[in-house]
Amino acid sequence: MFNKKTIEDIDVKGKRVLVRVDFNVPVKEGKVGDDTRIRAALPTIQYLLDHGAAVILCSHLGRPKSAQDSKYSLKPVAEYLGTLIANKVSFAEDCIGPVAEKAAQAVQPGEILVLENTRYHEGEEKNDPEMARQLASLADLYVNDAFGTAHRAHASTEGVARYLPAVAGYLMEKEIRYLGQTVEDPKRPFVAILGGAKISDKIGVIRNLLSKADHVLIGGGMANTFFKAQGYPIGDSLVQDDALDTARELINMGGGKLRLPIDVVIADKFDAEAESKTVEMGPVPDGWRILDVGPETVANYSKVIAGAGTVVWNGPMGVFEFPRFAEGTYGIARAVAESGAISVIGGGESVAAIQQSGLAGKITHISTGGGASLEMLEGLTLPGLAALQDK
Ligand code: AMP
Repeated sequence: MFNKKTIEDIDVKGKRVLVRVDFNVPVKEGKVGDDTRIRAALPTIQYLLDHGAAVILCSHLGRPKSAQDSKYSLKPVAEYLGTLIANKVSFAEDCIGPVAEKAAQAVQPGEILVLENTRYHEGEEKNDPEMARQLASLADLYVNDAFGTAHRAHASTEGVARYLPAVAGYLMEKEIRYLGQTVEDPKRPFVAILGGAKISDKIGVIRNLLSKADHVLIGGGMANTFFKAQGYPIGDSLVQDDALDTARELINMGGGKLRLPIDVVIADKFDAEAESKTVEMGPVPDGWRILDVGPETVANYSKVIAGAGTVVWNGPMGVFEFPRFAEGTYGIARAVAESGAISVIGGGESVAAIQQSGLAGKITHISTGGGASLEMLEGLTLPGLAALQDK
């Protein structure tokens, strides 16, 4: 299943180790917000330090237009890392070139050097071989622990692995083990719950999970496109008219496996204070829109979830950011938390929803990657993983 070499398979003592981490965290006015991704990289960093490596960290942050875009600097992240770890942390104002080279030469075993945002260079997203080579020249070994960016073939995630012995970090290994195993060898019954805004982002995921799971429970805005495809008027609900044929095809493909909400909460506007009512699924009047699944749906889905061996969940059941329309999502979160199933939450908004529900501690694995976890659920190969050495 997981057949890549990891940090435990190589000798790192006295070596310079370039580690691609996912430090793409929210930074506002120089302060780090949610630090989940930084903490998730600590086991790999600490292992390397404890085994005598000099650790050089690189990451992207946001989508800077140029290197002058200082709000995307990793400097505040490096400072924050220094508060989490006892070892010395220094920062280089560039990730390649003379500044980076000098800093990389100076970093000692047991110390950390954080390089500036890799996306300050155009070569990063272009997977420019020259940028990859320059990054590689800073170190003796390469570790990829950036699961959240592993679905991108960029210079620091894929290209660099061509120039150095390249292995996986603990976070990468953990993510791939859980997400890969969930899809390839699930304990059955295997129940997939899919929600979120749009169906178009997740068509490949629905298709793959319909072929692998025993039940696929649909909610969120994406259910609307299925409703419309079945011929229901859906009022002013969010819908994707260009995906109606695909929705029909998925309904046919799914047979009894694919379930849609049987009741919904509708609102007279898209607003936290909107007037709302719970109705059986049927024609939605003009001027109204579906913003959540209803209690009957939650009860129905919860029964399926209670009997599951494995549950994978991606995407909220409604507009959970508005408390009035969060009940569907929280109800499903409770069902998942209370089931004895192996539960995997696949990145993005679902992670925020499970954290807000206070039930995150009861979930087996919460992925740190949005797009990457979706690609895993779609059954695709992640380029950042493929580039690493096989066991
Ligand atoms: P995604 O990133 O695709 O998982 O979508 C998450 C977003 O879907 C959340 O911000 C929700 O507010 C939104 N969402 C869920 N259900 C609905 C709905 N019925 N109508 C509009 N947006 C929705």
